[in-house]
Amino acid sequence: MTDTNTMSGVTPAIEQLIEAAAHSVIAHTDELTALDQAIGDGDHGINMKRGMEAVLAELPKQTGKPAGEVLKAAGMQLVMKVGGASGPIFGTFFMEFGKFLPPNPGRANVVAALAAAIDAVKRRGKSEVGQKTLIDVLVPVHEAMAAGAGPASIAASAKAAAEATIPVRATRGRASFLGDRSIGHIDPGARSAELMIAAICAQMKG
Ligand code: ADP
Ligand code: MG
Repeated sequence: MTDTNTMSGVTPAIEQLIEAAAHSVIAHTDELTALDQAIGDGDHGINMKRGMEAVLAELPKQTGKPAGEVLKAAGMQLVMKVGGASGPIFGTFFMEFGKFLPPNPGRANVVAALAAAIDAVKRRGKSEVGQKTLIDVLVPVHEAMAAGAGPASIAASAKAAAEATIPVRATRGRASFLGDRSIGHIDPGARSAELMIAAICAQMKG
């Protein structure tokens, strides 16, 4: 992302953004585990930690490549190294994001690639907004970005969206097996998405 039409003028390298996102998720492993213990099988923290460690290990091999290639490589690591729903789902997100990002992307390219990646995740998970998944965070973040919001405002919309999954009854993934008992907890995948977005926004601000 070297174009001037970006969020803050001087844009951090894609490697820096991915690193920040990965480190934040890893630092919150225990919280993500606890969230998944409440409405799933308790493996989300470990799944995401394993995935993010694989992504970090892959990063040096991607140095100097276009942002889209780096994102695709990160997504491949998640698909290959992470079991459960989150590997294929977060992996699809990063792979498709990368696929739709042209070299030297500007803000409009990022917004369009984000939309394409969200559509791919929806197809992959047969999921829509309102089912208590990471989609519930990604869609409002896309809307905020498309509306021209700055990093602080995008991060705030991600946080609000993750918290808004609390009263929702899950209708996708393992949490859906709980029916009404899935109500009252943040969706683990939504929290992971929020953590990544917040970490990236913090880099964009800096
Ligand atoms: P598993 O559910 O296989 O144990 P994880 O615990 O790692 O995998 O991931 C659970 C998260 O994956 C959920 O919190 C939710 O955000 C996301 N998820 C699960 N199923 C779907 C789906 N069909 N579509 C979109 N996201 C999903
Ligand atoms: Mg789980």
